[in-house]
Amino acid sequence: MSDGLVVALSGGVGGAKLALGLSRALPARDLLVIANTGDDFEHLGLSISPDIDTLMYALAGVDNPATGWGRRDETWSFMDSIAALGGADWFRLGDRDLATHVERTRRLRAGETLSQVTADFCRRLGIGPRLLPMSDDRVRTRVQSDGGWIDFQDYFVRQQCRPVVRKLAFDGAAAARPQPEVLAALRGGGLRAIVICPSNPFISIEPILAVPGLRDAIAQSGVPVVAVSPIIGGRAVKGPTAKMMQELGLEASAAGVARHYGDLLSVYVAEPDDAASLAGLRLKVVAAPTLMTSLADREALARVVLDAADARRRAA
Ligand code: GDP
Repeated sequence: MSDGLVVALSGGVGGAKLALGLSRALPARDLLVIANTGDDFEHLGLSISPDIDTLMYALAGVDNPATGWGRRDETWSFMDSIAALGGADWFRLGDRDLATHVERTRRLRAGETLSQVTADFCRRLGIGPRLLPMSDDRVRTRVQSDGGWIDFQDYFVRQQCRPVVRKLAFDGAAAARPQPEVLAALRGGGLRAIVICPSNPFISIEPILAVPGLRDAIAQSGVPVVAVSPIIGGRAVKGPTAKMMQELGLEASAAGVARHYGDLLSVYVAEPDDAASLAGLRLKVVAAPTLMTSLADREALARVVLDAADARRRAA
């Protein structure tokens, strides 16, 4: 007997940690992970989907624990060789990882959708839960800095998040269609909870919510929407979330993230030391350790999230 479907919204590194925890706490059929594709780009002639790949490798247990992205036991012959030829080497593509991009690119060119390619890769990697892109249509995050608009990976990887972020845009989002299975899952009966993983709210979660229909479907789902704070003690665990919040004129804190999500949330899970600062907000706050270092941490946080959602549902 199923307890219902849990739909998790996720970016890459932080999101994939909780997605893995959820995959260990739930039967495979009860978890659907929606991946951000705003970070996707074309590079060296290849279609690269960084968040899908981080999630896929984490769920398959072949991720690189040292970097949080890419595959474990990686070798770098391709990168060394392309650098020797004067090619672009600012975006690191390991030899094993490269196979994913080459095969994805071939299949997309042959007419498969990103969802179909992702589902088949997941099946071949032995992943039980469903992992789907937010849309099969092209959405590209762009960053406005003092020097003008730049592509997301130029900002994130080539310039190592150094440019000051003034504004973000999600090119193509307004015309993108939500992935049909994703929309059906959010609108269908049998939902247990929606989880917003501890991902960057602005560049990992916002692009998902920008796809027409998805934000409304989440807001109208009637089930608890539980977010985990990606900010602990005013700092991001990894990446530019706190820096970006300051640059966008927001308070870089767990409360700042909760205010950003606003009415969409019904439950917010934050570090015990941050919980007091959340007292004034109109949402249920659950204090729990949110730093996921070990596999046990990931699973424990997933269980906190599920318990919080179920308690909220019972109380409603
Ligand atoms: P990206 O797409 O690779 O940038 O990955 P995400 O957006 O999914 O993850 C980046 C966010 O994850 C950052 O804001 C980090 O603070 C957060 N993060 C990473 N690890 C953890 C963790 O163990 N716990 C929590 N609460 N947040 C984390």
